[in-house]
Amino acid sequence: MQARQITQGRDREGFDPTAYEYVYRYVTAEDDKVCPDCISTDGSTFPGAYILQEFPYAEHLGNGVWLVNRHLKCRCLLICDQMVETCAEKLSFEISLS
Ligand SMILES: [Zn+2]
Repeated sequence: MQARQITQGRDREGFDPTAYEYVYRYVTAEDDKVCPDCISTDGSTFPGAYILQEFPYAEHLGNGVWLVNRHLKCRCLLICDQMVETCAEKLSFEISLS
């Protein structure tokens, strides 16, 4: 019952891709057109709360994937590999508090 109430609340609030708990990995297109700045960031990880500070033009595409938009024609992505697991952890933590 408590879990149902919490998940219903979550449906109304929607998924917040900038939550600190979501960790995103920087992924380049990995070809010879990737710029040096992007190559040097490849593989770095960023908490969701820092995405828009680090990459002000980033655009959330949905399902834990951001288009970084670091420069013109930038194809880099920020991808959260642990989206489902982190959602489950957040949910069980909220249930433990209620
Ligand atoms: Zn790039």
